[in-house]
Amino acid sequence: MTKGRRTAQKEAVFSAVCALDHPSATEVYAYLKDKEPAVSRGTVFRVLSAFSESGKLRKLHLLGDEAHYDFNTSPHAHARCRVCGRVWDIESAVSPVLPEGFSPEESELEVSGICAACRAK
Ligand SMILES: [Zn+2]
Ligand SMILES: [Zn+2]
Repeated sequence: MTKGRRTAQKEAVFSAVCALDHPSATEVYAYLKDKEPAVSRGTVFRVLSAFSESGKLRKLHLLGDEAHYDFNTSPHAHARCRVCGRVWDIESAVSPVLPEGFSPEESELEVSGICAACRAK
């Protein structure tokens, strides 16, 4: 595979994450399947984990679900509907009280619940 094609696949995966708003790898693959048939499922998983290791994407470990990916890498919290699975960015006023001398590296806050659309059903 030429380098140019690999770069194009990476860009396709990244733009899918931006377009889908907190998708899982499975959702990214489903989204790209028609648009970019050259991008295999394995490529999607590989590119996503490379991006999360390099810090270009943030990997979210949501409660009871597969990992989701976020293009917003600055610290922020999430609300997630447990019915439809949608994820929202939320402002969080919670600042944790850490043990003395503890230097935090990563933190994830997720509020799980049911969104207005699902509640109305
Ligand atoms: Zn919902
Ligand atoms: Zn987010």
